[in-house]
Amino acid sequence: MKYEIRPVLCGAYQENAYLLLPEGREDLLLIDPGDDDAALARAIEASGRRLGAILLTHGHFDHMLGAVKLMAEAGVKCYIHPEDVELLTDPEINAYDSYCATRPNPEVFEAETIGDSVELCGLRFQVLHTPGHTKGSVCFYDAENGVLFSGDTLFHAGFGRIDMYGGSGREMRASLRMLFTQLPPETKVYSGHGPETTIGAERGRYYL
Ligand SMILES: [Zn+2]
Repeated sequence: MKYEIRPVLCGAYQENAYLLLPEGREDLLLIDPGDDDAALARAIEASGRRLGAILLTHGHFDHMLGAVKLMAEAGVKCYIHPEDVELLTDPEINAYDSYCATRPNPEVFEAETIGDSVELCGLRFQVLHTPGHTKGSVCFYDAENGVLFSGDTLFHAGFGRIDMYGGSGREMRASLRMLFTQLPPETKVYSGHGPETTIGAERGRYYL
């Protein structure tokens, strides 16, 4: 299915949340609602759609703080890899305590866990487990449209930090190698921070 992608910059760390608006539907899918639920609520209202579901690429605070209020208001579910569930309510390991945010870290966070694929709001993604930044980091891959939502695994001209809780340089290298060898070079990459890029543009920067 075709869909429009609208990025929304959130919070002090300029995290990219993405609204996905599937053609011919009245709902939207939200990826990584960062620390600015007001901006996200405005963007959702401006779209004329209702929030259908929330996907998280990983459990760091700057990718999920906006989720709690939006989930409660819209009555929707939020999905994350099982290995990152422990991050959601623990400010020591989700980086909340090391930075600054505009709202408290959630004490309760009702998240659903995801497997190898996910289908929400009429959109289907392969869930590629890409540990290295966190243990439960994932990328959402849409082969039909050649699109990857890479979270903090792969950026334009960089990759996510490997020195935080659950991080691993060895796993990051394996995850990047998997993306670069398994995905077509023309795949568009929408990262958790920074501008969009492609697998082909990033692959040339690395000796893996
Ligand atoms: Zn992160």
